[in-house]
Amino acid sequence: MHLKKIEINGFKSFADKVEIDFKKGITAIVGPNGSGKSNIADAIRWVLGEQSIKTLRGSKMEDVIFSGTDKRRALGYSEVTITFDNNDKVIPLDYGEVAITRRMFRSGESEYYINKNSCRLKDIRELFMDTGVGKEGYSIIGQGKVDEVLSTRPEERRKIFEEAAGIVKYKTRKIEAEKKLEKTDQNIVRIKDLIHELT
Ligand code: ATP
Repeated sequence: MHLKKIEINGFKSFADKVEIDFKKGITAIVGPNGSGKSNIADAIRWVLGEQSIKTLRGSKMEDVIFSGTDKRRALGYSEVTITFDNNDKVIPLDYGEVAITRRMFRSGESEYYINKNSCRLKDIRELFMDTGVGKEGYSIIGQGKVDEVLSTRPEERRKIFEEAAGIVKYKTRKIEAEKKLEKTDQNIVRIKDLIHELT
């Protein structure tokens, strides 16, 4: 699996649609200060479901939508699509290419798509669990991240190894199953109470 392409439309400084192809090997993005290099990394985080505006270097979620300049009006929505080559089927879908899209309007409402099919953020999170990609994945190493990993608490560091070992999916499912069991237990108690009242 590798990132093949990113299409950015209306995200932060990208008022016009921009397409960047990532060929095999290393791609370096160079440009003057403030030209939007980090905004590309932010776009990748955002499309994968980042909800923390602080991580995206803004103060409110609307800050990810092009806010206009002296010459151009602000835009009403922001859209980013990233396409992965999935011939090795690391992403558990039977497609050779997987495209993830997020669109957000000024109202704050976000839409997500997997290969142009509308989906929930949860579906995207689950799809990328244990692949190293994703909001919590280790594939995006931002400035200061290495220091952060080294100085962080052992439990936090452990999460990185768990993702690499491919067990996050199972841990998440276990937590969900435990919540369901707890709810079922509560329902049983309620039913017992009702039976007790009626008899
Ligand atoms: P450096 O080399 O200094 O780290 P950079 O190339 O990584 O810079 P970015 O931080 O990606 O630059 O981009 C910052 C630019 O993006 C600023 O000029 C800022 O005005 C612009 N920008 C950020 N959000 C928006 C927005 N919502 N609308 C328009 N422009 C935006």
